[in-house]
Amino acid sequence: MTIWVYHIRQIEVKILKLLLHMCCGPCSCYPVKKLRENGIEPVGYFFNPNIHPYKEWEQRLSTAKKFAEKVGMEIHTDENYRLREFLKKALPAEAMPNGRCTMCYTWRLEQTAKFAAEQGFDAFTSTLFYSIYQQHDLMRRTAEHFALKYDVKFYYEDFRPGWQEGIDISHELELYRQPYCGCIFSEEERYSKAIRKARKKENKAKKRARLAAEAASV
Ligand code: SF4
Repeated sequence: MTIWVYHIRQIEVKILKLLLHMCCGPCSCYPVKKLRENGIEPVGYFFNPNIHPYKEWEQRLSTAKKFAEKVGMEIHTDENYRLREFLKKALPAEAMPNGRCTMCYTWRLEQTAKFAAEQGFDAFTSTLFYSIYQQHDLMRRTAEHFALKYDVKFYYEDFRPGWQEGIDISHELELYRQPYCGCIFSEEERYSKAIRKARKKENKAKKRARLAAEAASV
């Protein structure tokens, strides 16, 4: 008697459990839409010790929660305001070129990778990869470094092409849109007339030097 054995090939469909670090509500609009289009349902994570002063941090936190509620996304939030800790790290970092922002990316991306690993996520990413104002390549290298350290995948996607679409969605959802990056230094850079004037002068000098170099090479 022949016994026919049928082997049923089991196809394993693995759904990626992704932790999405949210720098704020408006910057989450496009990445969440895009991830869902990619078939991924992210879980949000608000961890931003770089936002000051207190009222601003509180408003961005509540906007992140409001966004998550409006789009039906699960969210974890770190609700400790860490101004003093931030300053302890930022002031020495200020002495190095680009030191403050490097410290800021490192802190937030390391904590996200650590949290993702501890909570059993497969991977992590951040809405910082949506911003056209942040240092994309530096953040990518930083995230890759912490993915290795905490043995969790870094899900890389450049969300910047959706910049305008994200702004439009944030208006539709009536989300609060912040006028500066986050820390008190960036608030000063945004509003100080003296800093803006000095920056204009610096840019003009750079432009003059570039034009002179181009003229000399002809
Ligand atoms: S400017 Fe933005 S990225 Fe740089 S330290 Fe301040 S909050 Fe962080």
